[in-house]
Amino acid sequence: MPTPLHRPDVEDGGPRWGVVRGARLTVRGVVRRYGGIEAVGGVDLVAPGGRITALIGPNGAGKSTLFDCLAGTVRPDAGRVLLGGRDVTALAAHRRVRLGLARTFQQIAVFPTLSVADNVRVGAEQRRGRVAARTVLERTERALGLFGLSGLADEPAGVQPTGVLRLVELARALAGGPRVLLLDEPAAGLDAAQTGRLVAVLRGLAERGMALLLVEHDAELVAELADSVYAMAQGRVVAAGPTAAVLADARVAEAWGGRP
Ligand code: ATP
Repeated sequence: MPTPLHRPDVEDGGPRWGVVRGARLTVRGVVRRYGGIEAVGGVDLVAPGGRITALIGPNGAGKSTLFDCLAGTVRPDAGRVLLGGRDVTALAAHRRVRLGLARTFQQIAVFPTLSVADNVRVGAEQRRGRVAARTVLERTERALGLFGLSGLADEPAGVQPTGVLRLVELARALAGGPRVLLLDEPAAGLDAAQTGRLVAVLRGLAERGMALLLVEHDAELVAELADSVYAMAQGRVVAAGPTAAVLADARVAEAWGGRP
């Protein structure tokens, strides 16, 4: 028997989340135009289950627009998005959530008047239409525990600092038990300890088979977390492959102007 990984900074043992199956996000030839601008100009990408994939690039490269196309909040002008083997291109965002595609936002979006636990509960209820109250409670408690938020469960979300809210958003996304998780700058506003917890949790999710795709500006975090990287510039993928190779690619450095 392999020894389970010891994660002293994660309150709740992740294995109870079980193994995630059918996790894979495939993007084929996605195009999205705004007026004369091709914000996304024909992107192919695969985020496989069990891996952390990073999407990097300078401001205006098209990362957020691509994320919106994947999540379903923006409809691409061309191309296809597949979740597992299923074409979800024509599905609305909430239907993709029910099929197991969760996302977090660059701009934190919590309900300020609800408690921390109730914010997370929203995510637990979202995955499928009707879930037993006990299941919702269990999922909520598990997600809170995963990010060390149990002690704040009954506190109003609105008064929490940015770092805590970022973790609340993550817990909410995870409470629905997604197969694919889209993260838009998940470490923004987190302190070193919270970032450490985030890294441990995200790795644990990938180990259980989840597909993670993150937009991240912090090159150190990308280097530490990601198995592979897609680098975008001006709507296109300019480099893709194993993290170290892409981060060392001259085209990537050029597109970034030296700054990831
Ligand atoms: P950042 O790192 O700053 O978030 P990004 O890589 O996410 O940048 P996008 O926000 O996707 O890039 O923008 C790509 C291009 O599309 C930019 O030129 C932007 O001005 C344009 N764009 C994005 N959204 C819209 C919109 N709703 N209407 C018009 N143009 C848009």
